[in-house]
Amino acid sequence: MIAALFDSIHAAQDRQATYQAVSVYRETGLDPRRIDPLLVRLAGRDLLLYRSYSRGVTLQMEAGVTDKVNLQAIEQRFAARYERFEERLQKMLEYIHLRSGQSRCRSAYLVNYLTGETSATPCGKCDLCSPTNENLPWRPDLFIAAEPLRIDPRMVILGAVKDHNYIFGKWTIEKMVLGIPQTTFQGKERKLSRSARASDHYGELEGSGVKPDHVKRALDGLIQVGYLQIVERSFSTGGTYPAVKITQKGRDALAGGIDLPVLQESGSVV
Ligand SMILES: [Zn+2]
Repeated sequence: MIAALFDSIHAAQDRQATYQAVSVYRETGLDPRRIDPLLVRLAGRDLLLYRSYSRGVTLQMEAGVTDKVNLQAIEQRFAARYERFEERLQKMLEYIHLRSGQSRCRSAYLVNYLTGETSATPCGKCDLCSPTNENLPWRPDLFIAAEPLRIDPRMVILGAVKDHNYIFGKWTIEKMVLGIPQTTFQGKERKLSRSARASDHYGELEGSGVKPDHVKRALDGLIQVGYLQIVERSFSTGGTYPAVKITQKGRDALAGGIDLPVLQESGSVV
């Protein structure tokens, strides 16, 4: 086999010859899939130098593809699939562009689309079919809520401690949820740690109307009734500090499993 190949490409000692698979195959009928490994093996034994070209992508024509009728069938299949895609896209656009005053309903539209029928009952609640739809879709300048939103600082504190469990002291927790980066007390400046400032809970109570004193009392109250506890923790540099830790009771309260302790105005807990 290798002799036939060398003949075909006029290979000789100390000569460079080019091997083209297609022409060699035509001439000799040698299968290129067998020649390549053979050349590699000979090169491995230093019997010749062989540098193969990068072969790129090899396309193998299946018998089915050479047939024109088959090709057309493939083409049609793709066209049909594209048509279905286009149809769905149009349905989505139609949904987006549904307008009131045409006796339409968003919910019914979806149900009809999915069932292929046209008999779905209007929901009476959407922006198209609700009897009180005058102010829908929702206007951002319109507030219907009668009560102003109230944030419970106890929940915020529990959430903050849970996410930074047994890491921060009381001072850090307080300043963090209030969004106070540093304080000065008796001429001494104290800065909030970088991780506290980067926390998701940083400034969580900012603009909520909750006063710093309220936060302090809530934190103390949660510790007093065992939702949180103070546990000494070592600094990496030596020494210890009191870190705030959440208890199982605290986790239960955060999850809504048990009620929060009632805090009196004076700060004591009932
Ligand atoms: Zn509706």
